Amino acid sequence: MHEMALMESLVEVLSEEAKKHNIRQIHKVKLIVGQLTHALPDALQFAFSVLRQYPPFSPEADLQIEERETRGRCQSCSAEFAVEDNYLFICPQCGGLAVDIIQGRELQIDFFEGD
Ligand SMILES: [Zn+2]
Repeated sequence: MHEMALMESLVEVLSEEAKKHNIRQIHKVKLIVGQLTHALPDALQFAFSVLRQYPPFSPEADLQIEERETRGRCQSCSAEFAVEDNYLFICPQCGGLAVDIIQGRELQIDFFEGD
């Protein structure tokens, strides 16, 4: 379950940010999680429910997760499209195989709240 490791590193970042901003207790965290991270929201929630037992979190801290689908942009015709299959990047407009991933790799803290 790599979600626990992911959440541990996010918690580390959150702890440092909280210290920087003189926040003693974090009540709410919002994450943006791209499909390509293969991080399951339920597993992230579970990991968070374990880790929020320790400072600087409130034991009832809330975790919100915004999932982002995988999106690609064709290098030939610049079409942007949602990628249904995580491993198949083909432009639906021209069939091109040179596709840049423009969304889906995110794993970031959108914001957090505390006092
Ligand atoms: Zn194309």
